[in-house]
Order: sequence, then structure tokens, then C-alpha cells
Amino acid sequence: MREQFGAFTASELYCPKCKKSQPVREKLILPLPTGELYQFLCIQCGASLGERTVSSPSLRRQAPPRATRSNAVHRRVIH
Ligand SMILES: [Zn+2]
Repeated sequence: MREQFGAFTASELYCPKCKKSQPVREKLILPLPTGELYQFLCIQCGASLGERTVSSPSLRRQAPPRATRSNAVHRRVIH
């Protein structure tokens, strides 16, 4: 059994409410420009046991490219 550092996924975490290790499920709580923020929730009581940020290069399926029309602000210096 090999431990993979850098690809950390928690399948079980200690839950202070349940007072024992519990399986957790990941829940996307916040899409970031650089990745996604996931929260580990105890599947038993739903307590938040931790969180992690996932940097995904293939994030564009979540965030479609916006039209640059609104960004194309014509700056005019009017005297
Ligand atoms: Zn729990």
C-alpha cells in the first residue's frame, strides 16, 4: 500500500461530535478562480471535519468563459 502525497483525499476523519472516525463526503462549497474549495462533511452527523482546495486545470466546465464584451471598456479621456 503506497501513500500518495500531493493527492490527498480523506476517506475518514475524526469527528468530534461522533467521537470517532467517520467516513466523509466532499462537498463543493466555493468555486475559486484558481480551483475549488471542498469541505469534508461527516456522513453521519454532517459536521464539517475539514476542507481542501483543489486546483483544477480543467475547471472551465464549471466556469464557462465569459464574453469579453463587458470587459472591453473604452477608456476615453475627455477634456
Ligand atoms: Zn459526525
